[in-house]
Amino acid sequence: MTLKRRDFLYLLTASVGAITAGACQASGNNLAASPTTQATKIAQTPGTFTLPPLPYEYNALEPHIDARTMQFHHDKHHAAYVKNLNDAVSKYPQLKNMSAEDMLRDLTKVPEDIRTTVRNNGGGHVNHSMFWEIMSPKGGGEPTGDLAKAINESFGSFDAFKAKFNEAGTKRFGSGWVWLVRTTTGKLEIATTANQDTPLMDGNYPIMGNDVWEHAYYLKYQNLRADYLKAWWNVVNWTEINKRYEKAI
Ligand code: MN
Repeated sequence: MTLKRRDFLYLLTASVGAITAGACQASGNNLAASPTTQATKIAQTPGTFTLPPLPYEYNALEPHIDARTMQFHHDKHHAAYVKNLNDAVSKYPQLKNMSAEDMLRDLTKVPEDIRTTVRNNGGGHVNHSMFWEIMSPKGGGEPTGDLAKAINESFGSFDAFKAKFNEAGTKRFGSGWVWLVRTTTGKLEIATTANQDTPLMDGNYPIMGNDVWEHAYYLKYQNLRADYLKAWWNVVNWTEINKRYEKAI
């Protein structure tokens, strides 16, 4: 009886961790397991959504983001969001043809019993799919073209934009993201969201965003989130972000 009760409590804790934005703890349980094997297994599970491969090696963004952080972040955290999202939507064939972005733009289209799971894990999937692409070992520097012009017009200068973005990211309490968004009225704004919420939920387009969850930086930077935010600009892929800006307009 005692054993059964304990097992039940363990399972309850595990599922609550997965459903809420607690993928951090859930994946932390398997730190000793081989991340590569695990990720491959998850990625090959049949389902609507798949884990996109990292577009570069785990160590490609060093010294700014270390290989171990990249490996756990992609193979464990992002993989868990994909798995949880697939598990949730598998119960509802009517969602088969909807993209995660479409669901997040209007969560009322998602059945209520999986809405929070889709919000957290669909958000996690969409946010991280963008995140890997907007970084590059050949990153850094400054935006060009229309985006550079729009940033200068909206924030005064690129340096002023960076300072404001970093400040917003530092002040975001707890887990979340800091964004440059294009609003429905066509304005560029810096925004932050909690957990895995995406600007898409408010109708805004995420041109770029930085992950300020502790799992994104803690192994290398510990509590120094501001240092991570500052270093991150060295790996920002402006080619990709320029493309996202063109797409937004
Ligand atoms: Mn993350």
